Amino acid sequence: MSNRTFTMIKPDAVKAGNIGNILQMINAAGFRIAAMKYLSISKTQAEKFYEVHAERPFYGELTEFMSSGPIVAAILEKENAVADFRKLIGATNPANAEEGTIRKAYAKSMGENAVHGSDSDENAAIEGSFFFSGLEQF
Ligand code: GDP
Repeated sequence: MSNRTFTMIKPDAVKAGNIGNILQMINAAGFRIAAMKYLSISKTQAEKFYEVHAERPFYGELTEFMSSGPIVAAILEKENAVADFRKLIGATNPANAEEGTIRKAYAKSMGENAVHGSDSDENAAIEGSFFFSGLEQF
């Protein structure tokens, strides 16, 4: 079990003005911010990040959306980070997300669902190093 996960506040939540609200929920849940940046990624970079989903029917839509505006990328630290953060963000489809989760509060749809959270320790490490060098992690 690792103590770090990777997250992005997606373009829909940034556009809606929810960066502060979402960071507040993340901090209140006991995560420490180990790295953070506000940036936008190109379609090509989004395709690389989501390579594992290349065969899925929504790959084009997903990578178009993720490159449509600025995002906040961050590495979060807490005991049992990956599983606890998945709990905090809620189900992929906000219609199924539990009360008290970030997606219940701020996601618009299955595609525009406010936040990303790594699904394994291995992916958390891969995704974190996609955005941050060792010098940018604290
Ligand atoms: P997650 O781990 O809960 O983020 O969900 P997945 O790994 O299954 O999917 C990755 C991301 O792809 C999701 O967070 C959504 O933004 C997007 N996605 C998943 N399913 C769909 C879909 O049916 N349509 C669209 N447009 N996007 C989807």
